[in-house]
Amino acid sequence: MGESKQKRRKHAAVLDGCPWCIYCGGDVRATTVDHVPPIIMFAQRRRPKGLEFGSCEPCNGGTKHADLVAAMVGRSMPNSGTKAGGEEMESIFSAINNNIPGLLQEMHIPREVQSAAGWREENGGLLRTDGRLVSSHMQTFAFKIGFSLYYELTKKVLPKTGGVVARWFSNVDRLTGAFPQDVFEHLLPPNTLRQGQFEVSDQFAYQWRLAEEERMAMFLATFSQSFAVIAFAATDRGLFDTETKHPFKICAPGELMSVLRG
Ligand SMILES: [Zn+2]
Repeated sequence: MGESKQKRRKHAAVLDGCPWCIYCGGDVRATTVDHVPPIIMFAQRRRPKGLEFGSCEPCNGGTKHADLVAAMVGRSMPNSGTKAGGEEMESIFSAINNNIPGLLQEMHIPREVQSAAGWREENGGLLRTDGRLVSSHMQTFAFKIGFSLYYELTKKVLPKTGGVVARWFSNVDRLTGAFPQDVFEHLLPPNTLRQGQFEVSDQFAYQWRLAEEERMAMFLATFSQSFAVIAFAATDRGLFDTETKHPFKICAPGELMSVLRG
């Protein structure tokens, strides 16, 4: 069986189980399969199967650049130290350069500033992550984590009345204490993608918990030593207003691209 035929068959199997776009509230047909996290997040593109979701083309295609940026940030620490790893990073950088003009410039911290800050280059590059372009792409990726893990946990598409609140934290946020360490106390033990003996917990792990009589769920996804996403999904957006006071944007189903559109 040819590779593309095999791929088509695999996609058909995912869409059989998940026929509606997980990002659109349950009434838009899924026509594509979205991997969350994306294949490019993983060294040598070796990604165990699992966490593959039905998605409409606008949601899947429209967030490809967010996936690309997340892969770059996710793979920035630790530096793989291998030639193959370096080449893969180069190709991610060049894809970003071609597709998202200005983003790399926005993230660049001059080498002198890095070393003045006591940063050792063998740890990987230190990147500025508060710029507008990187923030909007990472925010979009963080929303995807909320929608997709909600589906994985409940096997239900988050309904139209629902929403996701999500925030991503860089490794710097962890050092400075901006990352809420007590989050771990609220969650079940971490899981990762695995296929037989092969597992990728050094690159990706996720944990979760249902709350509010299953009307709300909390998620944490961590990517190497690079960044983490904390997300909440609720079946009713009203739950966010009453239960959690937060200044963050709520992403309703069908609005995945709203942050990138600005
Ligand atoms: Zn969609």
